[in-house]
Parts: sequence; C-alpha cells; structure tokens
Amino acid sequence: MSINFGIQGGAYSLVDTECYCCDGTMVYAGGPCVHCKNGITQVAEPEVPDVQFSNANAREFLVALGETPECYGIWESDRLLVIRDRLVLLSTAGVDLLVKDLTRDGNMIHCGRDADYVRRRAAQLLALVRSAIEKKLPVSWG
Ligand SMILES: [Zn+2]
Repeated sequence: MSINFGIQGGAYSLVDTECYCCDGTMVYAGGPCVHCKNGITQVAEPEVPDVQFSNANAREFLVALGETPECYGIWESDRLLVIRDRLVLLSTAGVDLLVKDLTRDGNMIHCGRDADYVRRRAAQLLALVRSAIEKKLPVSWG
C-alpha cells in the first residue's frame, strides 16, 4: 500500500502507452480488446509528478509535519504555506526526527530511514508544495 501526494486539478497531458489490458496484442479475454485502439491507450501524466510514500513513511512524515496522520486529506492554500515552512525545517534542521535505524523483530525487518532518504523525500514533497502554491491549487493525498 502507498499514499500519493499530488496537486489537485493540476495540468496533465495524455501520453500514448501500450495497452495494459492486452499488452499491445489487441486480444483480451479471447476477443478483440475494447480498452485500446491498435494496442495503444492513453494515460494521464500530471505536469508535476505525484510524490509517493509507503503508508508507514507517509504517516511518519505527516506526524513530523504536525499533521494528523490520516490516510487521505487535502492542504488548501493557507495550509500549504504552513506545510511549506515546516518542510523547509524538516529537510534541514529536522531530519533527525525521521531517521530510524533498521530493526529486526523475529522474521520481520523494519528497514528504517537514513538522513539522505529523509532529505530527498522532504525535498520532493517541498517541490510539489511550492509548485501547488505557485499554481494556486491544493495538494491532496490518499
Ligand atoms: Zn488493448
């Protein structure tokens, strides 16, 4: 499971891609594929790519940002300014808040997070938030 953060209502373009139903063969479930044209279908690619987190990482980033760790939500324009400032802090002075050692619990391995990972992911989320502020659009996640 993962949680995507993306600009709501942001611009996107339709990109041709091989049909994922028939893998471009134009045959699906024993008949002609109705999901594509000549094995090609179109997918919407957002102008500003979504930022994807595992559920566990999304939860802990949200907590570190002072947010309620919900599985979905939205940051409207006023909130985005607060989140932007908190992400700047998180990606610099606050990195240690999210650094976590690898741990083992029987057969379970919890991978942990190093400082580079935290900085990189905070920077990706910050770029998304800044772009949304510029476009005057909200960021939603779920
Ligand atoms: Zn198809």
